[in-house]
Amino acid sequence: MKIHEYQAKALLARYGVEVPRGEAVESAAAAAEAFRRLNVAHAVVKAQIHAGGRGKGTFVENPAQRGVQLVDSPGDAEKVAGAMLGKTLVTAQTGPQGRMVRRVLVEAGCVIRRELYLGLVVDRNRGKPVLIASAEGGVEIETVAARHPEAIFHEPIDPWAGLRNFQVRKLAKKLGLDAAGEKSAAVFLPALVRCFLDQDCSLLEINPTVVTGDGTLLALDAKINFDDNAAYRHPEWTDWRDLNEEEPAEVRAQAAGLSYVKLDGNIGCLVNGAGLAMSTMDLIMLHGGKPANFLDVGGGADVRQVTEAFRILLSDSNVQAVLVNIFGGIMRCTTIAEALIAAYQSLGFHVPLVVRLEGTEVAAGRELLEKSGLNIIAANDLTDAARKVVAACNAAASA
Ligand code: ADP
Ligand code: MG
Repeated sequence: MKIHEYQAKALLARYGVEVPRGEAVESAAAAAEAFRRLNVAHAVVKAQIHAGGRGKGTFVENPAQRGVQLVDSPGDAEKVAGAMLGKTLVTAQTGPQGRMVRRVLVEAGCVIRRELYLGLVVDRNRGKPVLIASAEGGVEIETVAARHPEAIFHEPIDPWAGLRNFQVRKLAKKLGLDAAGEKSAAVFLPALVRCFLDQDCSLLEINPTVVTGDGTLLALDAKINFDDNAAYRHPEWTDWRDLNEEEPAEVRAQAAGLSYVKLDGNIGCLVNGAGLAMSTMDLIMLHGGKPANFLDVGGGADVRQVTEAFRILLSDSNVQAVLVNIFGGIMRCTTIAEALIAAYQSLGFHVPLVVRLEGTEVAAGRELLEKSGLNIIAANDLTDAARKVVAACNAAASA
């Protein structure tokens, strides 16, 4: 799960991470008010979307407008907020369709002496979090990593001990901080790490972390992703979620207890079990097709879930054929066949449907499908199913 910059900054501040003073607002008039309340000479208006690259991003409605802009009066803040709110911002991370801005952060402008990069992720090879740091901040870290990998430092974190003093000193030296910078880092860095561990983050990125006029560190940007598996111990996450930023079909699927990820192909897949779903997608690709989604209906899929799964698949206008691949292990194939027939009858199908069933009571399950008189293409095995669905999809596309 992702949260907005203004939410991430509020969370970081709780841990003692220095962040600029600011206020998130939803109207241009409120932006002017926020500017007044900040009582500063310069403020920055920042579009709040779940994507970075806003400083360089441009608006569809007005390509000259960027997603981060310096302002120096309430009137200016109002004008700039008005130019962002309700408009579509396209950045390197949003894809060409961009994202509608519904909220802007008005925050105190700061003097930037240097821009550093700081990030925390879980390093799967080391099996622990790692703090990533670079003196080359403010720019895309991916570019630095590709061109100057030696300019990026990795500091593994012991999840029990957190960041230790010697690690802070080591990083301060590598980042070229002076005495004031190192003193500030001794508070800033451990606080970041505590937030990451406590809050079950999967990613925490402060790019840029700036060295301000007085030499101390400040989190100028903030990006936090949470590990969804930890949602049960963070009830407050529900309030922080912004459904406008999520794929509507994924939200619906989640509500129905389905694991669904939208992809950009045209073959809808309904599968039980994540492993089987992955191999189904692989086989579709192998036979020249492209999956429209990953969908795992789980081990105990019932009529309601199968119907909702079909509804989600069919609501995607890219979908030109659907492949159902179910292995009846815990579940019986007859149950699945009944659920398929019921879902088919209640929804109606406008695209070809290929079904491959295997497992417990498979013969009876297949017979049910055959006798239903529905327009279902039966497949004998996984390869057969993949070939048939790709052929059906190609035929539908060329028809
Ligand atoms: P993004 O990563 O989405 O482009 P950032 O928050 O990193 O957005 O902002 C982009 C740039 O805008 C920063 O690198 C910094 O130079 C400038 N900036 C952002 N916030 C402030 C601020 N409060 N004061 C001064 N400059 C800022
Ligand atoms: Mg940034």
